Amino acid sequence: MIRIAVVGLGKIARDQHLPAIAASADFTLAATVSPDGAGLADTGMADVPHFASLDALLAQGPAVDAVALCTPPQVRRELALKALARGLHVLLEKPPAATLGEVAALQDAAAQGRASLFAAWHSRFAAGVEPARAWLAGRTITSVAITWREDVRVWHPGQAWIWQPGGLGVFDPGINALSIATLILPRPLFLTRAVLDFPANRAAPIAADLAFADAAGTPVSMDLDWRQTGPQTWDIVVQTDAGTLVLHQGGAVLKVPGCTQTREDREYAGIYARFAELVASRSSEVDAAPLRLVADAFLCGTHRTCAAFED
Ligand code: NAP
Repeated sequence: MIRIAVVGLGKIARDQHLPAIAASADFTLAATVSPDGAGLADTGMADVPHFASLDALLAQGPAVDAVALCTPPQVRRELALKALARGLHVLLEKPPAATLGEVAALQDAAAQGRASLFAAWHSRFAAGVEPARAWLAGRTITSVAITWREDVRVWHPGQAWIWQPGGLGVFDPGINALSIATLILPRPLFLTRAVLDFPANRAAPIAADLAFADAAGTPVSMDLDWRQTGPQTWDIVVQTDAGTLVLHQGGAVLKVPGCTQTREDREYAGIYARFAELVASRSSEVDAAPLRLVADAFLCGTHRTCAAFED
């Protein structure tokens, strides 16, 4: 059993990481870390040791073999470097860090040690994604349309960090779509156009209109918007010479001509199974491609100001 500490006891840690660890045959929850002193006292796991900082865990806590970093991205690099320096295996929530330079530094640190570094992209573990990649392999793709429209008030209520520099704004969900696109499409994408809409009172975009192309010139459009109320849209539509492939509901549902597949959500079970494999083989897996495309959009996109946003 790999003794793991969950660092950053917020929404994703509670919704997904803790249940996935509890259900895993490979991991046991050894500790939690978060500035809030309560830990898991409000759950049935009140006996799990809790620490206010990673430093406190490393100084006083039980032995751990690994950490899952579920904090906002702006503090991830420092925490990951501390853990790697202690020889701990590190699972990074998405995005792996706030900048590409930070990701490179983490890769260097992992390469110099013996611990595994896993930059997890949870959407890549959605049920339809690997079958979509396999279906597309060898087919001619003529265009791709990504639509990722959700209600930020529902999914990120009161999260200040997401609007701050490094928090990515609407690219926080949008990068999930890019993590899928960069896996299922056969060639790397390049940004060709980006228009980012920043609320007058925020440092991160609330919407973006993007276009990419691959080396063969295949067009990929991307429509991101955090202002969608009512039904939410997380769709990738791929036109091919063999018909249309649709990944619906963030990758959970796959539709190809003559077949619709809907399977149980196993994203975080898949992440922990993969992390266990990496730990066993002492190898690392870090793909910065989705973050690179987001960085390019911030670098080369047109920035517009739109109406102020209040939670
Ligand atoms: P969140 O609810 O704001 O939780 C983040 C937690 O990290 C908070 O408990 C925060 O404590 C804690 N924290 C901040 N700095 C820390 C530090 N230095 N050491 C230890 N803990 C620290 O955010 P979230 O929604 O869970 O998102 C966290 C990450 O998961 C983001 O990168 C996000 O993109 C990713 N993710 C989120 C979702 C989702 O549905 N929410 C889905 C997939 C991935 P304080 O609140 O006291 O600062």
